[in-house]
Parts: sequence; C-alpha cells; structure tokens
Amino acid sequence: MVDYLTAEKSRIYIFKKPICCHICAHDTFIPHETYTDVEKPGIKVLFVHNTAICQQCGFVIQFGDPSYYDGEKDMYRWAFDQELIEEQPLLEPHVPYIDKKTMDRYKRCIPLALQLLIRRNEAPGKLLNLCGNDEYIAIAQYFNANYEETYSQLVARDCLVLLLNRLMEKRLVNPDELVKVLQSEEDLSLEAFLKASIEK
Ligand SMILES: [Zn+2]
Repeated sequence: MVDYLTAEKSRIYIFKKPICCHICAHDTFIPHETYTDVEKPGIKVLFVHNTAICQQCGFVIQFGDPSYYDGEKDMYRWAFDQELIEEQPLLEPHVPYIDKKTMDRYKRCIPLALQLLIRRNEAPGKLLNLCGNDEYIAIAQYFNANYEETYSQLVARDCLVLLLNRLMEKRLVNPDELVKVLQSEEDLSLEAFLKASIEK
C-alpha cells in the first residue's frame, strides 16, 4: 500500500480493487494529484483531487482516497496501491474491437456533447456541420489532440472522450453524475444524460 500515487504509467488499486476506465474498461493510467482551495480562497485549506488519465482512450477519471485511521489496530490503512508498468515497445498496434451498437452510441453522443460546448462558447458551431471522420478530426484538431492513428472507430471513441473531458473540466456537467451514468449498464443512459443537460 502506498500513501500517494506517483505520476507514472500504472495500474491503480483502491483497497486491492483495480480501477478501470469508465469508457473503454482498460486499466492503465497515469495518475495526477491536483489541489484546489475552492471553499474559501486564501485560507489555504487544500483539497486533494486524485485524477488519472486512461492510457488507452484518454478519459480522465476522478476518485477519492478512502484511506482511514484504524483505531483498534492503531494504524493508518492506506487505500491506494500502484503497479508500475514498464514501457514495452509494441510490435503491432493493438486495435481494440468496438461493436456496432457501442459505436452507434458514440456517434449519437458526440453531437450532443458538442452542442453543450457550443452553447457555452467552448467550441465553434461549425463543428456541428461536419460529419463522420471529418467531424472527429476537426474536433481533435480544435482541442489540440494529436491522433497518429486514423482508425475511424478509435477516432470516434477518443473524440467523445475529448468532449466529455472538456465538459467536466468546464463544469458544464457534474463529473460525479457523469461517472455514475457511464458506470450504469444501460445503453441509452449517456445519451439521455446529455439530452437532459441540453434541455436544462
Ligand atoms: Zn479509457
């Protein structure tokens, strides 16, 4: 168990349970700690936020630190564990398979996420007029993402991830609510969530 996470490519465990990405289900991340003193700026009571970037799709996950003091044993129970992953040269790029149903869902969610950003001037409206790969590549370029690969499946998934990350970063959606939606088993939930956010 460790008391903090180092910012290296790794698997992360909370009380021995591995963290998986809410979008692509992979388990390799680079963790980061960020600090805010949102309560009352100036008091210097800092909140630590644990975030980790999925090394497969780029989605940013957030998680709490449930470490606690165990009074009975008089010891601190650290929650985190980290398994560092050695960088290995890839012989062949591994292209994950995304089924059609999931892919269609990504495609329906991208314009919805985009609408939310456009409405708050966080993205140019003209992005909505494009479609398919052109749209995804234009979105990636606008948000300064570098895609070396052009497998259209991955581009669509990563594009949705870019938009969702931006929605959370700009607080246009509540990150906790979004994560709950992504974790739910229902297929339509992300779409419904984005639609409801547009109607708010
Ligand atoms: Zn991922």
